[in-house]
Amino acid sequence: MPPLAGQGRCLESVPWRGAPVSPGETTLEVSVSHNDHTGSTLAAHVRQVTGLNPARCYQCGKCSAGCPMAAEMDFRPHDVLRLIQQDKREQLLSGESLWLCLTCETCTARCPNECDPARVIDTLREMVWRDNGGAGAPRHIRAFHKSFLKQIRRSGRIFEFGLVAGYKMRTGSLFSDVGAVPGMLKRGKLALTPTRIKGLDEIRRIFDKCAAAETDAEEP
Ligand code: SF4
Ligand code: SF4
Repeated sequence: MPPLAGQGRCLESVPWRGAPVSPGETTLEVSVSHNDHTGSTLAAHVRQVTGLNPARCYQCGKCSAGCPMAAEMDFRPHDVLRLIQQDKREQLLSGESLWLCLTCETCTARCPNECDPARVIDTLREMVWRDNGGAGAPRHIRAFHKSFLKQIRRSGRIFEFGLVAGYKMRTGSLFSDVGAVPGMLKRGKLALTPTRIKGLDEIRRIFDKCAAAETDAEEP
């Protein structure tokens, strides 16, 4: 396993997949460089939105050691905090890792320093989504997100067949995973018609309020 900046003992059992944050780096140095476009560092943005201070992270790695998605991520939770400290905006925001987070909050529960990586990651995702109208997120992530929300608005719950169909239409990967369909149908895991929940009007009101709040936020 390659060395990692500030790597702690807890990380020894975490599978490695991505490149090290800073190859060969062994000391913890917090960058205060500023972003060219906004004049603000990533750390300042996170602090402003959440009240959390990313500089508090001392890279013990307890968050990543418990993360169920760590093996799939190029940047695990402690890497995310490290990249924020270094203000490596492009490196952090252009990857997939942020979007693989399940928001299970295991990292947050394990952090001994109240850094709340789950909330930090959510804040960064929201930032990418707002800054570029979602364009900064990987295409298949956007496709899944839109298909998922469409199903919730329409039925109040997930209709798997519609979700998968919407996702495939958006991504163009029409025939991937089709081999799994017969087995899912046989086991009753794939209903062919949606069922609507009783409180669908309330769900739609939530969507409308969110849309109105977004519009208000965009207006100067
Ligand atoms: S976020 Fe918390 S648990 Fe994770 S490396 Fe930093 S201090 Fe440790
Ligand atoms: S909230 Fe995200 S980053 Fe944290 S442990 Fe869960 S999947 Fe990993």
